[in-house]
Parts: sequence; C-alpha cells; structure tokens
Amino acid sequence: MKRILIDMDDVMAETGLKILDTYNTLFNTNFKKEDFNEKSFTDLFKADNYLKVRTEIGKSGFFRDLAVKQNAVEVIEKLYKVHDVYIVSAATEFPESLSEKVHWLNEHFPFVEWQKMVFCGYKHMIKADVMIDDHTKNLDYFEGETKLLFDAMHNQKVTGYTRVTHWDEIGKLLL
Ligand SMILES: [Mg+2]
Repeated sequence: MKRILIDMDDVMAETGLKILDTYNTLFNTNFKKEDFNEKSFTDLFKADNYLKVRTEIGKSGFFRDLAVKQNAVEVIEKLYKVHDVYIVSAATEFPESLSEKVHWLNEHFPFVEWQKMVFCGYKHMIKADVMIDDHTKNLDYFEGETKLLFDAMHNQKVTGYTRVTHWDEIGKLLL
C-alpha cells in the first residue's frame, strides 16, 4: 500500500477549461485548448486581463460546478480501495473554494472520506510515496519516490517529468 496525494484542479477537475471559458466570455475572445499546445497562458492572455479572471476565480461558485476529468472517478475509486489516498488541494488561495471543494468531492467522489481531504497552501511538508499534480512547483519539493505530472494546458512546455495525460495511464502505473 502506498500513500498517494492527488491534486484537484486540472487533475480531478477541468479547472483550466473553465478558466479558458471565463476568459473568452469576459474579453470576447475565442481561445481554444489547442492554442496552448504552443503557447502558455501568459503568452496568450494579456496580463491585466488575467488579473480580472483571477477575480472571477475568487468569487463564490467558481469551483462548485467544474467538470470531472474523464475516468477520474473510476480510477480513483479503485486506487482508494488498495492505497492510502489523500486529496490534497492548495485551496486556501481562494477562500470561497474551500466549502465548494468539499461539496464537489462529496457529489462526484462520495467514497472519499472527509478525513482524506487536505486543503492547504504549500504541499512540501506532506509526506507520501506518490504525488499526482499539474504544477512543477508542487512536484519539485515533494520528497516521495514517484512524481507524476498531469498534462495540462499550462504545462505543455515542461520537460523532465513523468507526464500522464489520462487517468487510465495512472491506473496502469499504480493499480
Ligand atoms: Mg492543480
């Protein structure tokens, strides 16, 4: 049995797609997911505009209706049965998100007990064997044996990590 830390945004939930939709709605643009294969958010988005998007992310409701990543429920439920799984989200940046994330997990991942939900800022002090995250800033300071970078729009140019693009791949690695 391994202790596995699973991030929420852009790992369990399609947060990046909602950010993209929010940006397109606010600024009447038509960016698509594929546009980020070559460029990062900061290359494509105007900095002032992105600050306005962050204000939207901080408002009530943003995190409550996020779509679930394909096959995340099925694979995480299997992992949960055989490993010591924790859902770990750096959520305190957006205080309104805290209760929304609990309700979202209860709705879509009802098998995850409240004791296995960890909302924090930094993640480096958490000890485990495996971390699944879309941000190198979290993976870089993780001391466990396995670091999996979940493919996301914002990390297309990142190299040097074990990249996973679908939950089925994680199932093959860890089940
Ligand atoms: Mg994330």
